[in-house]
This record gives sequence, C-alpha cells and structure tokens, in this order.
Amino acid sequence: MAYKKVESYDEEITGVLAKDYRHIIELLGENPEREGLVKTPERMAKAMQYNTQGYGQDAVAILNGARFQEEVSEMVVVKDIELYSMCEHHLLPFFGKAHIAYIPNGYITGLSKLARVVDVYARRLQVQERLTTQILSAIKESLNPMGVAVVIEAKHLCMMMRGVQKQNSVTTTSAFDGEFLNNHVTRNEFLKLVSAKLS
Ligand SMILES: [Zn+2]
Repeated sequence: MAYKKVESYDEEITGVLAKDYRHIIELLGENPEREGLVKTPERMAKAMQYNTQGYGQDAVAILNGARFQEEVSEMVVVKDIELYSMCEHHLLPFFGKAHIAYIPNGYITGLSKLARVVDVYARRLQVQERLTTQILSAIKESLNPMGVAVVIEAKHLCMMMRGVQKQNSVTTTSAFDGEFLNNHVTRNEFLKLVSAKLS
C-alpha cells in the first residue's frame, strides 16, 4: 500500500517515482531543472499515490463498519456522487457522477459510506465498466440487499483531449442485480429518479 492517509506518503516510493517522472519530463523534451518544473516530479509522485490510494482500501469493510439492522424495504437512492478516476489505458482522468440504489433486506448502511465505496474503486487505474460492477459487488456482498443498481455517467479526458476529440460525449455504464435486474418496474423507477432534476 503506497498511500496511507491524506498527506502521508511512503518516502521510498515517492523518491523512486519522482526520479522516474523526472526522466519522463526529460524524454518529453523539457528541462526538469527549469524553475517551474524542479518540484514537479515529487508533486506528480504524490498526486499519483493519492489518485491510486484505493488499492489499500477495503470497500466491504467500510460498508460493514456502518451496517445497521433495519426493517425497511423501500428503495434507497443516492444520486450525483462525484467521482474522479483514471483510465488505465492512457492514465488520463475520467470524471462524472455515480448514482446508486439498493433495496434493503434487513440491513442498511450509512449514506456517506456509499460515496466512500465509489472513491475506493475510483482511486485506482480503471475502466468505467469495471468500476460500475465493483461498486455493485461490494454493496451486494456487505448488505445482501433485495437488489442493487449502479449507474455512472462520466467524461473521459482521453477521448476529449486526444484521439477522436469528442469533447462533449458522456459515457454511461450501468449494472443491476436482484430486483433491479428481474423487475423492470423497479428498474424504471430507479432510472426515473436518477434522471429527474431536483427543482
Ligand atoms: Zn483512456
């Protein structure tokens, strides 16, 4: 685990990464001794450890830590959870929103924990499809709900600033389980809720 907590970086890993980033800056045709770039390799080393801190975190444990017995069976929806991740093909950011719903089956979890689960998986090298199913699986494993639904809408910088340059395209991925998979009324209710704008 390279990253432990905010502003706490493994010195050895930071040092090795910084050395490599310095080399990368040179290979790209820049002068790493230039005033504005002198500290850049170290900043990159720390930023990258921050952006990948999810490898050392356990989403199921986070959910289990705030799991409460509760006899509700109404759909719980948390929408517009901000997410920032990095595409594993180009190491460029993708960012957007996650919408999560589950139907409790004896247990609920703290609402903020769902947002933390998004971070645990987003702060890794990712593809949006896998991110979506990993969030779903963690909720399923911890809460064993009647159903889980995850929708992610994101913009990918690797598409926006290079290659096809589709500047305004949004990629939507979804994963459904249980009631959301088997019952189209439930699934449509969720999709209606997440697409509705708050007035
Ligand atoms: Zn990419």
